[in-house]
Amino acid sequence: MDNFENYIKAGKIASEVREYARTQDHTGRTLSEICNDVENEIIKKGGEPAFPVNVSLNDIAAHYTAVPNDPTVVKNTDVLKIDVGVHIDGYIADTAVTVSFDSKYQDLIDIAQRALDEAIGIARSNTRVSDIGRIIEKTITKYGCKPIQNLSGHSLERYTIHAGQSIPNIWTIGHSFNLSVNNVYAIEPFVTTKDGQGIVYEGKVKNIFGIASRKRTKDQRADEFLEYLWNKFKTLPFALRWVVKDYEEKEALSLLETLLKKKNVHAYPILVEGSNRIVVQAEHTIIPQESNTITITK
Ligand code: MN
Ligand code: MN
Repeated sequence: MDNFENYIKAGKIASEVREYARTQDHTGRTLSEICNDVENEIIKKGGEPAFPVNVSLNDIAAHYTAVPNDPTVVKNTDVLKIDVGVHIDGYIADTAVTVSFDSKYQDLIDIAQRALDEAIGIARSNTRVSDIGRIIEKTITKYGCKPIQNLSGHSLERYTIHAGQSIPNIWTIGHSFNLSVNNVYAIEPFVTTKDGQGIVYEGKVKNIFGIASRKRTKDQRADEFLEYLWNKFKTLPFALRWVVKDYEEKEALSLLETLLKKKNVHAYPILVEGSNRIVVQAEHTIIPQESNTITITK
């Protein structure tokens, strides 16, 4: 596998940065500070962020990243999911951890981690993904909690985070496939409490964007902006925080609005638990082998 070294390197950085984020006391910090800090760590270690660091609080399961100068402050009662992506030349490692400064959530956090460990324990080439979904669901429900049914892990390819194949967090009848040797997959159970719906819905907030089409817009400024975005991010997601280094914020927002309207750029809405219950997440990126699996983000 030609690109194995890049995956191992991306995985090592992602893992170190995740642990860096996990072991800090984020209480009293703003989400801007945390995002910038974590992304700077990635760059310091020689990687590039594969997507804006996700800092999703409480009932937000995923896809929140700080806006420029985001004033949201982390409280000692919050549950914070930190989802980190690192790429080396487009080869991506994706990993997440949940932190809380209130010990009453620790059991929930441990359950997500255990579900992930159990899933990785059976993952190798030819493992049916329905078996992975089954073991994740079983582990979570055994402790009286619920998996989020409509969030899943995914295959990864160069410069593509969601490369088309889903790794379910529940057992489902019907379509399944087997893991392939030397393909790359993220496994990421999301867990909520038993009074949660176990389903997420799209929220109104959209802070993460990606290029959908490079078709010209007939608006010269918008075309230049699109070219700038392509040169910087290719098919990878980006945040307004990253753009305001080169563009004035008001101008960037207006150009982004134009590109969204013309469907050159799409936005990823935040995903919120249906009964507004706490959601926790754990995630690793793996490369299945014949008789075991390599966890590149261990
Ligand atoms: Mn992730
Ligand atoms: Mn992922």
